[in-house]
Amino acid sequence: MPPVFKGLDDSGNSIGTNVTFWKAVAAGEKDGTGKPLWYKKGIDYWDTVPATDDGVLGGYGHVSDADAKENVQFLKESFGEVLDARRDGKKDKLVACDCGAGIGRVTSSFLIHQFDEVDLVEPVRHFIEKAEELLNGKDAPTRVNGHRAKNFFAVPLESFIPEPKRYDSIWFQWCVGHLTDADLIRLFKRCEEGLMDDGLIFVKENNAKDGFVLDTEDSSLTRSHKYFMYLFEDVLGWEVVKHKTQKDFPQELFKVRMYAVRPKRSRLRKSK
Ligand code: SAH
Repeated sequence: MPPVFKGLDDSGNSIGTNVTFWKAVAAGEKDGTGKPLWYKKGIDYWDTVPATDDGVLGGYGHVSDADAKENVQFLKESFGEVLDARRDGKKDKLVACDCGAGIGRVTSSFLIHQFDEVDLVEPVRHFIEKAEELLNGKDAPTRVNGHRAKNFFAVPLESFIPEPKRYDSIWFQWCVGHLTDADLIRLFKRCEEGLMDDGLIFVKENNAKDGFVLDTEDSSLTRSHKYFMYLFEDVLGWEVVKHKTQKDFPQELFKVRMYAVRPKRSRLRKSK
């Protein structure tokens, strides 16, 4: 029997389990294209939010430095060998994908310093346009190391298909709560195809204490650590290489955890 996770809404009321919740989303109202209204509500919310660090971080733009600092540290701890291979000239370039990128905050504060090329995926039009302006516009910083933001994909993650074996790392930060379990699993499987053989997928998300917590305002859900581990290990059969909680964030926020995960390589090799 798979584990069952209990949910609370943002007022602390019980809303059943992950199983009943996602069933209700799938069976509920649809948008014009037949997708659950769940997704449109999320996009409608972000459409009203200013394209600033404070906007994408719900008023906590000031945590961005502490966030980037831990991202670098975590990347070095879990992906050091590949970074070293690039530094030693054993690899021509490293490519990352910033998923649910907003205005490119994670790319500009962190990914673009560590990777030669970064692609961004973000469905909200005014965010991705801002990201492109900040990263590649006339006032964008000059980069002597030749690193660059390359592709800006204006699509939601539930439809994103990564190019096969393009990415050394695929980074998700504060966005997977917008995807249903079924869409998230399908996306991760497509990412498996998009990843280099020695690549890693990174997920940095809020952790609910238990089960999950629904955010009715932006139509997203905060999963607990156990819920994430269940999806990675039990549902996907992936290996969680490392996970670690973020330090130095304001007390009132959810705990934030970074996961470095990868498809089981032995399984991949056998199936070839
Ligand atoms: N990762 C960025 C932005 C976080 S805010 C950062 O850390 O700065 C959450 C982001 O998720 C917003 O940019 C929002 O537009 C995006 N988002 C919402 N629904 C999404 C979906 N279905 N697919 C991809 N991104 C989505």
